[in-house]
Amino acid sequence: MYLVILGPPGGGKGTQAKRLVENYHIVQISTGEIIRKEVKEKTLLGNKVSSFINRGELVPDSIIIEIMKERLKKEDVLDGFVLDGFPRTLKQAIFLDRILGKMSLGLDCAIDIEVSYETLIRRLSGRRVCYECGFEYHLEFRRPIIFGICDNCKGRLYRREDDKEEVIQERLKIYRSEILPVIDYYESRGILFKIDGEGKPERIFSKIVDRLGKVL
Ligand code: AMP
Repeated sequence: MYLVILGPPGGGKGTQAKRLVENYHIVQISTGEIIRKEVKEKTLLGNKVSSFINRGELVPDSIIIEIMKERLKKEDVLDGFVLDGFPRTLKQAIFLDRILGKMSLGLDCAIDIEVSYETLIRRLSGRRVCYECGFEYHLEFRRPIIFGICDNCKGRLYRREDDKEEVIQERLKIYRSEILPVIDYYESRGILFKIDGEGKPERIFSKIVDRLGKVL
């Protein structure tokens, strides 16, 4: 199964992608996670992209496409994947089709998670992430047992630079303008399905599974 999951920052893409991985035994490829790891390790690539992320801007297509080219060379993609946070521009979507074509693969579905502006702001501003293992918490919805400390690995929790209010607005503005052509692109190919992303993650997931069951 080859899926992409679209949706605004804070829309719950990562959470749903992790559930899809468990349910369908596919791999999750998150460009955001790959990039954050590079930034944390202060690699050449990480230093190049950190300013874009901190400003809430998209990393240039040429860099993201190179990252994806490398990632898709790994054998695990043959088990199926869910791409989380990619594509985010029409250029990336067209690249993805081309490279999958060369690998004799094709996308089954593009899932678009729709969430209101108010919900996004609430989710993003309360999100906290473990510096060590990347596990996500929320000040309101998913608190750790000890404030500021990860339940799983005891790592320190932090607020992503791009989850600060002034950056959130910018990310949402850019997301909307870049993603619309991508949504049209998948819609015209008949592989897009929209999911209402309000409410509890488990309910959203069961809607996704229902729809996938009908499509595949
Ligand atoms: P995310 O975790 O998906 O919200 O991504 C965090 C940040 O990484 C974004 O705000 C962008 O700066 C960058 N990023 C992740 N995926 C992409 C992509 N496909 N194209 C461009 N920039 C990306």
